[in-house]
Amino acid sequence: MATLIDKRTPAGPGGGHRHPEKRERPDTAVLRKPDWIRVKAPAGAEYQRTKEIVRENNLVTVCEEAACPNIGECWQQRHATFMILGEVCTRACSFCNVATGLPGALDPQEPANVGAAVAKMGLAHVVVTSVDRDDLDDGGADHFVQTIAAIRRSAPGTTIEVLTPDFLRKPGAAEMLIDAAPDVFNHNLETVPRLYLTIRPGARYYHSLRLLERVKERNDRLFTKSGLMVGLGETRAEIIQVMDDMRSAGIDFLTIGQYLQPTRKHAAIDRYWTPEEFQGLATIAESKGFLMVSASPLTRSSHHAGEDFARLRAARETRERA
Ligand code: SF4
Repeated sequence: MATLIDKRTPAGPGGGHRHPEKRERPDTAVLRKPDWIRVKAPAGAEYQRTKEIVRENNLVTVCEEAACPNIGECWQQRHATFMILGEVCTRACSFCNVATGLPGALDPQEPANVGAAVAKMGLAHVVVTSVDRDDLDDGGADHFVQTIAAIRRSAPGTTIEVLTPDFLRKPGAAEMLIDAAPDVFNHNLETVPRLYLTIRPGARYYHSLRLLERVKERNDRLFTKSGLMVGLGETRAEIIQVMDDMRSAGIDFLTIGQYLQPTRKHAAIDRYWTPEEFQGLATIAESKGFLMVSASPLTRSSHHAGEDFARLRAARETRERA
């Protein structure tokens, strides 16, 4: 399984500490993984080819940076989620394995490199995400826009999903990105509002919710999508409240997956939700009117994103015909 429980916390991109703000924290307890979380080790010819394309184009993926448990399956099918704006994040969320610190300059070649990789991989649908760049005036929105344009030039038939930061205190940034009209605008709320101060201390729940609502207000043809992790101490009632908040903001697609602890310095796992409990959450969410719901222990917001996009589009057509 790719998710690490590493007592040392791994080195960051420059060889320094990957999570300097977590270094002095006491180790958290580790809960034994249940059988339904176990996945195969990454291997196979297509997995290797995906890796080569990523390296040849000097790209970073969230699949590797976040130690995603699905990397073996996704990369074998040539699905990778590109992470732009560098590999160092200015936030320090307690669940996330992406390195934190002061990022370097933007790579002006990155948009074209992403476009070239998408074309080489022959992707029908691509997900582009990024680190948080609170140090940039536009939070990196223009770089997202350039990346969308480069993908459209290199791979005109590919549909594009952006999984964005929250653009907190970046006036005009989200609008710039909405106007580039990606097919799906995805921003994860991650957890329930009560846990924001410990899990997403640099973010604000209502700001994130409003971001997704603003997408719909500006262009209601864009699909909106958001995700939650469970296993951080939230209650079922709190999750149901978040579902209602999401529906009020017009969010089309909800994903819910199990939180996995990247290292012992990260937030502890409160508990593993069972597959039956995930099914129960999916049933409730479907009854609330989301166009699509994906809820399972290994659901991640970019997992099966291509197939899910086709289903999302079909679900909207069906609803509009009704
Ligand atoms: S689920 Fe997403 S982040 Fe994980 S390996 Fe697949 S594409 Fe990458």
